[in-house]
Amino acid sequence: MRNEEWPADSSVSPAAGPNPPVSIMNLTDLSALEQAKLVRTKQIGAEELLELTLEHVEQTEGTVHAFITVCEKEARKKARDVDRRIAAGEEVGPLAGVPYSAKDVFCTRGIQTTAGSRILSGWLPPYNAAAIERLNAADAVLIGKTNCDEFAMGGTNETSAFQPCPRNPHDPERVAGGSSGGSAAAVAVGAGAFSLGTDTGGSIREPAAFCGVVGLKPTYGRVSRWGVAAFASSMDTIGPLTRSVKDAALLMNILSGFDPRDNVTVRVPVPDHLSELEKGVKGMRIGISPDLMNLRGVRCQVSDFRDQVSDHGFDYEKIEIDPEITAAVERVAGILEKAGAEIVSDVPMPNTQYSVPAYFVISRIEAYSNLQRYDGLKYGRASQNGQKDMYEFFADSRQEGFGREVKLRILSGLYLSQKEFYEKYYLRAQRARALIRSDYDRAFDPQGPYRLDVLLTPSTPVTAFRFDRQGVDPLQVRYADQFTAPMNFAGTPGISFPVGKDKNGLPIGVQAAGYDYCESKILRAAYAAEQEMA
Ligand code: GLN
Repeated sequence: MRNEEWPADSSVSPAAGPNPPVSIMNLTDLSALEQAKLVRTKQIGAEELLELTLEHVEQTEGTVHAFITVCEKEARKKARDVDRRIAAGEEVGPLAGVPYSAKDVFCTRGIQTTAGSRILSGWLPPYNAAAIERLNAADAVLIGKTNCDEFAMGGTNETSAFQPCPRNPHDPERVAGGSSGGSAAAVAVGAGAFSLGTDTGGSIREPAAFCGVVGLKPTYGRVSRWGVAAFASSMDTIGPLTRSVKDAALLMNILSGFDPRDNVTVRVPVPDHLSELEKGVKGMRIGISPDLMNLRGVRCQVSDFRDQVSDHGFDYEKIEIDPEITAAVERVAGILEKAGAEIVSDVPMPNTQYSVPAYFVISRIEAYSNLQRYDGLKYGRASQNGQKDMYEFFADSRQEGFGREVKLRILSGLYLSQKEFYEKYYLRAQRARALIRSDYDRAFDPQGPYRLDVLLTPSTPVTAFRFDRQGVDPLQVRYADQFTAPMNFAGTPGISFPVGKDKNGLPIGVQAAGYDYCESKILRAAYAAEQEMA
């Protein structure tokens, strides 16, 4: 059965998305704020909303495959509790009764948490991740855990041990993006009002762009990662995927803040991002960088290095950007200019070109270190091969538990961090990282020549590509994170928001990037654009 149709209440405006019918809409397509309002004002019970959502999950899962686990039992318990408290006139949280999902890297007490890996399949964590605790306290209702690339390593979800992996809701022949692909697909189809994702090189923003939803990567240290499976700790961040910019603002209010259990979190005051939205963009300086439109990459595979690398080094080629995406960035710049922002179109970001190669080195080395804990004894499924000693047992557990991509990354990390290569690769990558950060410091310096509030970029060089890669240049796939990874190096925030569709009907994402702890500014820019395009 399809969602019950819901007569539009004049106080409930349609969520951003592909033209919802004006007078009638599906409840499950409403934004989190709208759903919360209906529950709080007793127009719908939390249990009723949950049942509609679960039904909707069941209808959509057959094509979208967004979830690894759906936790109906726990969800029903929470929804019942919310209804009881509302009926008793008790205080409830800002997300009371709102169904949501979380990428399967977030620990959830008593609910299977796999990180998309066989090595953790069946694992029931004894505790909740900090972000899940906060959402629980806000009275949101967790409906399930979404599929993702194994340990968040990938950009398509194809590396998940749980297949079939998520499909793009706009075309099931295409990838949903990754690694938070299940989260993006779930939000896009209305399977929950929002989702939690993680972003180490682009894993919230890229799938958000591919699926036509909003995805925000906060400043490093803004949101506690306690209880989330680590991939590359110096870049890992967690953030929301939503159907509206307002929802992303609300979630940043709830998720942000110091946590003694994640020692990179900070005691920086958190503004009310929702009321900040109303300030608009008047007087903001919005930058565009020609350097970002002229990035170059290396086409050859590691395996054919020897044939293709000339004596002078690698052969670099320009990475083409889909002209419809470039046009979308210009369109947003035009909208913001009309709304009173000043466009600064010559911002130099010369070091961004090093992001993807430096990311390759640093992320592999950190992953190699982080994944040592999964040995079948401390963490992860134990091999039952009857090994003769401890070393065989560790080796077999890892051999059986990890997939190909994870093994490849562990081996690359091991290789790249060896004493003899450390300087050549790791130190150089760290130097590149410092240079990338200096690009951001220059662009956003309030005393500098550019004094930006927001930098506008594409979210991705292409829209969602096909699983068989037909019609896309492999270089564009390899460098899919070229616009997102720089912020993971710089530690700065970025939000991808949907800006119409391309000629194939696929969503286009544009990114607003900001300076440290300035989530409210990028939200304001995205909100102004969203309002204009609605
Ligand atoms: N696509 C990138 C990778 O494969 C980024 C992943 C992420 O942000 N978690 O490493």
